[in-house]
Amino acid sequence: MEHIVATPLYPSEREDRLVWKKESNGEYSVRSAYRLCMNELLDTSHFKVEGAWDLIWRLKVPPRVRTLIWRICRNCLPTRTRLRDKGVNCATVCALCNVDEEDSLHLLFRCPGSRNIWSMWNVFSVVSHIFDQYQNIKDIIFETIKVLSNGDESLFGCIIWSIWKQRNNKIWKEVTDAQGFVFDRAKTLLQDWTSAKMIQKKICQQ
Ligand SMILES: [Zn+2]
Repeated sequence: MEHIVATPLYPSEREDRLVWKKESNGEYSVRSAYRLCMNELLDTSHFKVEGAWDLIWRLKVPPRVRTLIWRICRNCLPTRTRLRDKGVNCATVCALCNVDEEDSLHLLFRCPGSRNIWSMWNVFSVVSHIFDQYQNIKDIIFETIKVLSNGDESLFGCIIWSIWKQRNNKIWKEVTDAQGFVFDRAKTLLQDWTSAKMIQKKICQQ
């Protein structure tokens, strides 16, 4: 007891005050609160998916194609198996071949009908081993874009878009697009978009 009483008080002791530990001066700031939210309170790990996403955003393709490819790589394409996983009571068989389960990897790269469409592409032999090598669709897309030149990577994206459209036409409109038509539609989409961009550029230069 004597020791306690004899203990000198810290000479500069002040009254209690609230201290914001995220700033060195103890004062609250919006900047540090925002940083706290982003880094510690919110679990942002699901936003961070590894990959060379720039490859997609740099593609010279219509925006709808770019967005579709991004959705595929983020695994949020509403294929039948994905819908089932989300609790939708629907068939899971591939609408194009009626044999295998419809996930994005099968539908776009492994389905026999889709393979026929890819085989019409003049650089398919250059990238076909990539289609077979990877089990993750994101890897197939990134690796394929990496080995292709500008024009080819654009058509690659448009063919993916056209196969997805073929699938949607089959399911929602009960229309069967011929495989040759699917391939030509991809080329036409790219040509029309490229021409429109050139006209737009000329107008801007005038
Ligand atoms: Zn199929």
